[in-house]
Amino acid sequence: MLTTAPRGMNDVLPGESRRWQAVEETARRVCRLYGYGEIRTPVVEHTEVFTRTVGEATDVVQKEMYTFQDKAGRWLTLRPEGTAPVARAYLQHGLDKGPQPFKVFYLGAPMFRHERPQAGRYRQHYQFGVEALGTLDPALDAEIILLVHHFLSELGLGSLRVHLNSIGDERCRPAYREKLRDFLRPRLEELCPDCRGHRFEKNPLRILDCKVRTCRAVVREAPRLLDHLCDECREHFRTFQSYLKDLGLEFRLDTSLVRGFDYYTKTVFEVVYTGLGAQSAVCGGGRYDGLVEALGGPATPGIGFGLGLERLLLTLERQGLLAAEAGAGVEAYVCALGALARRQALGLLDGLRRAGVAADVDYLGRSLKAQLRAADRAGARLALIVGEDELARGLVTVRRMADGAQDQVALAQVVATVARRLAGQADAASEVATRASGSPRGEEKP
Ligand SMILES: [Zn+2]
Ligand SMILES: [Zn+2]
Repeated sequence: MLTTAPRGMNDVLPGESRRWQAVEETARRVCRLYGYGEIRTPVVEHTEVFTRTVGEATDVVQKEMYTFQDKAGRWLTLRPEGTAPVARAYLQHGLDKGPQPFKVFYLGAPMFRHERPQAGRYRQHYQFGVEALGTLDPALDAEIILLVHHFLSELGLGSLRVHLNSIGDERCRPAYREKLRDFLRPRLEELCPDCRGHRFEKNPLRILDCKVRTCRAVVREAPRLLDHLCDECREHFRTFQSYLKDLGLEFRLDTSLVRGFDYYTKTVFEVVYTGLGAQSAVCGGGRYDGLVEALGGPATPGIGFGLGLERLLLTLERQGLLAAEAGAGVEAYVCALGALARRQALGLLDGLRRAGVAADVDYLGRSLKAQLRAADRAGARLALIVGEDELARGLVTVRRMADGAQDQVALAQVVATVARRLAGQADAASEVATRASGSPRGEEKP
């Protein structure tokens, strides 16, 4: 137990974390292009932030939250999702009185759900999420879809399809809910225990996206929420779709799409990757026009999405879209032979790093051969060999790892030379080759 992380919680080791960083850098860049600033909320919230918004009848609230009492007896929950905390922060800081829409993204901090771990789904997991609060404009719905589409395309996931539905709002949904109950009541026996139990009682819409086969068969015949929208919801959905058409984005209506949480209203969507025989939802989101109100704030529309990073990385990996692991990113490796050389080596290393060259050194007192192997493993493009003979003459040997070509450079110039060669690899290649074959150009003579 002492040497195993809790079930469903993973370490991300250095080689792998570089892949995460690549995805995260893309997310940050795209968010900046769309005018979204980063928000960081605490990893725990008061439990009510989730029970009042995500919904009492949802799996998340019923079964999956990590909830505990702190020493003062307050109920706290490790956040299972990112939208309710953003709405809480929006109210706490009076952001509803600032410029609207309030556009933010979150990235990098974990979410927690106690569910059965499976590939790409873990108890501690990471999400990239985007939220925009403060306007009902359907153009914002389109912007959110464009943003996630842009992000995924930049990562190489070009084959995307957007699945859309509208699930109405508190004006039109109650009547539909009753219609749906009327339809389901004579068929309750065919539904799974969850559906015929608390879902039927508390939120029959959830039955529409139940994955159990018999439930799916029953709801195929059910009345469609799309046919029971109020005027405002219908108009909003129509305008939103017309924007997507104008933008040439491929989408498909999916009337079984309801999303898991109670706070969703009107637009709900999923973005599905369809490339290379894959068919996986990589992102889901929607409007939540009642969420801020559920937390005790003024009626405030909002829309956003959340995207599981583990799932995304898995998809990228399966499609061969992740760069091969690239060590720790070291560019130059200093090999020192002997005690005196070692003292010089540490100064050289310091000079390289301060000049912006990622550099490392051997700390195990190994042979030159072993140090060069270490340089190779670290991914270094150049090795700097500091021996006692060379030092006596004020020289360092610079070796190109790719082909072993090497030359000697004055100690005083070696940092600048290495930085220049790494910056312009093509030039450096010919430079080193020339020197290795014994015709130095003379600018760096000792
Ligand atoms: Zn069911
Ligand atoms: Zn409505």
